[in-house]
Amino acid sequence: MARVFSGIQPSGELHIGNYLGAVRNWVALQDRYECLICIVDYHAITQAYEPELLAQRTFDMAVSLLAAGIDPERTTLFVQSHVPEHTELSWVCTTVTPVGELERMTQFKDKSQRQESVLAGILNYPVLQAADVLLYRADIVPVGEDQVQHLELMREIARKWNARFGEGFFPEPQPMLSQARRILGLDGGAKMSKSLGNTIALLDSPERIWELLRPAKTDPARVTRKDPGDPEKCNVYSLHQYFSPPATVREVAANCRGAAWGCLDCKRVLADNIAAEFAPIRARAAELKAQPERVAEILADGAARARVIARATMAAVRTAMGLMPSQGDRVRP
Ligand code: ATP
Ligand code: MG
Repeated sequence: MARVFSGIQPSGELHIGNYLGAVRNWVALQDRYECLICIVDYHAITQAYEPELLAQRTFDMAVSLLAAGIDPERTTLFVQSHVPEHTELSWVCTTVTPVGELERMTQFKDKSQRQESVLAGILNYPVLQAADVLLYRADIVPVGEDQVQHLELMREIARKWNARFGEGFFPEPQPMLSQARRILGLDGGAKMSKSLGNTIALLDSPERIWELLRPAKTDPARVTRKDPGDPEKCNVYSLHQYFSPPATVREVAANCRGAAWGCLDCKRVLADNIAAEFAPIRARAAELKAQPERVAEILADGAARARVIARATMAAVRTAMGLMPSQGDRVRP
């Protein structure tokens, strides 16, 4: 059975961009593939963060993923730093990764602009990502469009390692995109991102969703309520397409073009539909939050399962690269 791997940073709350672009796919793929989903905390520390919040955010991300439909019976759900082979293989991957390739990554250019002095962690972010996927020799990586470039580099890293140390050892992982490849943030400009604060989270209350959506950017041509708008230029309209039934989507488009509705009327309908869609997820999350030991157990079990594969890959990698076996390696079968 083909193997699927993907990850998400505990850099904030799971939002509708993550959900539509990636997580919904992860849930659907559980039936057909062997799936590993990783909460990538070592990636999250490459941006400014608060150490006292990281463990809680990691736990909350696990809760959100489980509530969104990740089934720990079928999917290995775990935390990246609980499986130390990720950082081991990452080091190995740096030895076959050209610095020039890392410097031309769009995400590096974006995120390094937000750092006063550019740290090596943000440059090496895609190398750790390559290690995450290659460690499990995964075939398919369901991600949003922003990660496709990193996947290309990951394939190059796999090819370079294979050519030098073992033809065919690492499969070249393929990205799998959902229909919603890139959801825009509420600012209507940048991609919706945890680190940009332009999100609606899956667990936001109906009141909070409305508070966030009210000031969201729409077609700039609609200065007053009487100005007709172009739904194709409006991010609120594009969100309707994911959360509202087809008849409502048609009504929204017509009422925007004909200025029959103001933007607030249109947003009110969207806010209600988003809240309704995620109501069952919010309810499941509340149940899980009340049982922190159960969530911790799921993550411990996931890490134990992941480590079996990770250890075997690292042992094979060390052998292929000619590293001297340690006592530990010799006693292991
Ligand atoms: P950060 O701002 O910290 O980078 P993020 O919101 O971009 O956070 P990630 O943890 O980096 O989230 O990405 C998790 C997954 O969600 C990835 O597969 C990514 O491609 C996908 N994703 C993130 N944002 C969007 C978006 N706006 N539209 C579609 N997919 C997205
Ligand atoms: Mg991101």
